[in-house]
Amino acid sequence: MTFDLLVKNANLPDDRTGIDIAVSGGKIVAVEAGISAEAGRVIDAGGKLVTAPFIDIHFHMDATLSLGTPRLNRSGTLLEGIQLWGELKPLLTKEAVIERALRYCDLAVSQGLLAVRSHVDVCDDRLVGVEALLEVKDLVKDYLDLQLVAFPQDGFYRSPTAAKNLIRSLDMGVDVVGGIPHFERTMEDGRLSVKALCEIAAERGLMVDLHCDETDDPMSRHIESLAYETQRLGLKGRVAGSHLTSMHSMDNYYASKLLPLIAEAEIHCVPNPLANIVLQGRHDTYPKRRGMMRVPELMALGVNVAFGQDSCMDPWYSFGSADMLEVAHMAVHTGHMTSRDAVKSCFRAITENPAKTFGLEGYGIAVGCNADLVLLEARDTIEAVRMKANRLAVIRRGKVIAETAPRTATLSLQGRPATIEPWRYAPVEAGAN
Ligand SMILES: [Zn+2]
Repeated sequence: MTFDLLVKNANLPDDRTGIDIAVSGGKIVAVEAGISAEAGRVIDAGGKLVTAPFIDIHFHMDATLSLGTPRLNRSGTLLEGIQLWGELKPLLTKEAVIERALRYCDLAVSQGLLAVRSHVDVCDDRLVGVEALLEVKDLVKDYLDLQLVAFPQDGFYRSPTAAKNLIRSLDMGVDVVGGIPHFERTMEDGRLSVKALCEIAAERGLMVDLHCDETDDPMSRHIESLAYETQRLGLKGRVAGSHLTSMHSMDNYYASKLLPLIAEAEIHCVPNPLANIVLQGRHDTYPKRRGMMRVPELMALGVNVAFGQDSCMDPWYSFGSADMLEVAHMAVHTGHMTSRDAVKSCFRAITENPAKTFGLEGYGIAVGCNADLVLLEARDTIEAVRMKANRLAVIRRGKVIAETAPRTATLSLQGRPATIEPWRYAPVEAGAN
């Protein structure tokens, strides 16, 4: 028997070690120890971690790599970011958005990030971003799954043409219904926008992903309406609440009522640790709130929590590197999620959890799944998060589409080793798990 590709001696995210993965016709056909057969290409994982690809479940590809155009965000707040984006929007051209997006996707692929859910602003009557990203979705489909959310950045009701443009975007082929209830003029308009947007999704059989309660105001409780509408309209499992940062500041008694409602409605919760940690708490002196939703508590209730990157070098966030391990690393820190089990759950929140939110088919390392794999320069998921590990090989449908050289440093120190490889610093017991 001959395979197209054989990956030997891999550790897997579920802690199995010494596993071989055989690939034929773009699919995984065997996952077991000691496969001996011919293959078109053999990759020796050498006891390093092989994972299914990273997924970014919350991103803004129409804004990425625009940092500094037309100016920088001086206050660092969400609201100045929105204002700045409003200045940039009329200047956008379809060609420029496509070029930036494709360039970002190159970086994403090199980081083993092969599926992205991107919000696209529909509050521009020209719908330049929508046209551009629909084209990008098609251009990258062989190497990256791009899912688009119709996002009324300036408010579904607050912006005079947002409602019409959102429908136009869905008619053009945008996949998911978006919204921003906390940015509407009143709490009541926010609540009504949640209702209207969920009704649009129910009518069209679509998923929902709202920017929801992205504020430090503990009274911003649109997630409550989102959970209610999800139940009322039979949308369980198809609705995501992104950000939910007000949950950080909520009264504990109210949170004890809210979290079970989220679990009952099977809402996917999407924190964006990098953005949330810098955009929230900006009105505080000390102590400064951190703006992260209650991740460990949600996970303990069985809620599907998936982390997003949100931004990469745009009006809201000047950092970012398409590295979902960086996102998980920040989540570990902001959520005090440092136990071994908690770090593993953060790794799942950038891989298998967002796959469920996205609705990705054929995802995972099992027979019959797509042969989409990433070989990391780390022994296990905890080490991968700790080191934001190097992506040695990125495989899509059985073909290697990106490779990075191993990290080796040479030392010139008397009596010390001539070279070091950082991944070998893993604690001995980490290998055994
Ligand atoms: Zn966002």
